[in-house]
Amino acid sequence: MRILICNDDGIHAAGLDALAEVARAFGDVWIVAPHVEASASSHAITLHEPLRLLPRGHQRFAVTGTPTDCAYVGLHHLFEEPFDLVLSGVNHGPNLGIDVLYSGTVAAAMEGARYGVPSIAFSLVGRSFPDACWVDVRRVVHEVLTWFMQGPTLPTERVLNVNIPMGPLPTPAPLRATRLGHVHYPPHVEEKQDPRGRSYLWIGGRPPVLSNEPGTDCAAVQEGCVSITPLLLDLTDHSLQITI
Ligand code: MN
Repeated sequence: MRILICNDDGIHAAGLDALAEVARAFGDVWIVAPHVEASASSHAITLHEPLRLLPRGHQRFAVTGTPTDCAYVGLHHLFEEPFDLVLSGVNHGPNLGIDVLYSGTVAAAMEGARYGVPSIAFSLVGRSFPDACWVDVRRVVHEVLTWFMQGPTLPTERVLNVNIPMGPLPTPAPLRATRLGHVHYPPHVEEKQDPRGRSYLWIGGRPPVLSNEPGTDCAAVQEGCVSITPLLLDLTDHSLQITI
């Protein structure tokens, strides 16, 4: 099995190494990640600037672009044979609810799904990430991949969005199938002055409030469960009939 690993936190992120290390138990791993952090870059693709592909070890590359660029270059340029699986993450932070639309981690997985490759995004729900936390994360990712390999094939144009609560978690970790919940960020725009006396704005940054509706990703992680949400690339609301 050939596995492509991407992320949005960049080639130096601890979560990337954790994911790659676990994936090596399942197949031949290739890593393509942004050369610097590219979190919250959503599904941006670089079409009007050159991209540099920088070798960073055995089957390991940095790209001077977005997470989507990395998946694209990995899938269509580096290798002649197709990949069997795209894994993205493990993101340093949650990707819950509508935040999946901002997420570079989820976008890299979606890029894999777009080209017919089963794809999974992994995120760790926390705000700080001491080295020790990745021990638990590696075990949980291994459990999720074991479950995934034994299950039915994911239909095309779907992504699994996995959020892992900060441990310690029991063995085996409780896995829960979920839908997207609601994440509320108190709107916040801070205006300050730079050292040259010009004003600048800094948006967001305050901790979110998670809903706890049963069955949601938000509720699952708050209850110490690993949330697994199937996502569709097709954003059409098939249930809503509009009259024109
Ligand atoms: Mn990130």
